[in-house]
Amino acid sequence: MGWTEERVALLTDLWGQGKTASQIAAILGGVTRNAVIGKAHRLSLAARVSPLQQNNVKKRSVATPAAAAAKADTAAKGLVSMMDLTPRACCFPIGDPKKPGFGFCGKPSALGLPYCETHAKIAYQPAPRGRIRVTEDEAQGAARTASG
Ligand SMILES: [Zn+2]
Repeated sequence: MGWTEERVALLTDLWGQGKTASQIAAILGGVTRNAVIGKAHRLSLAARVSPLQQNNVKKRSVATPAAAAAKADTAAKGLVSMMDLTPRACCFPIGDPKKPGFGFCGKPSALGLPYCETHAKIAYQPAPRGRIRVTEDEAQGAARTASG
């Protein structure tokens, strides 16, 4: 089923009104709910979907294989996928991009930063305390210096 300019405009309009994908599919006719969601994603309309609706979509799209499973896995970990990442959300990557369950933190980002407070600390301080280890020689040298 093709997407004529008219249908795309209608989809955009209905989506903007907060209609669900199934309602839009019914109004447009000849398309599945999934097709509506897919088109909306491509039109970058996805951000308008409420978290509640997204949950429903994830739960119901179990039938579709790997991609859906990966997305569900991502959601299960409390992460957001690339598609659901909003400009104000923390884009700290978590997991392996090549494996299911990869996603982004998605928490509200700190002011002026692409990461939330927690991840900004990690991202901008690559050497946390525990990593800087003084070798034994250095420790002894320091002790000698200190004792005189
Ligand atoms: Zn974060």
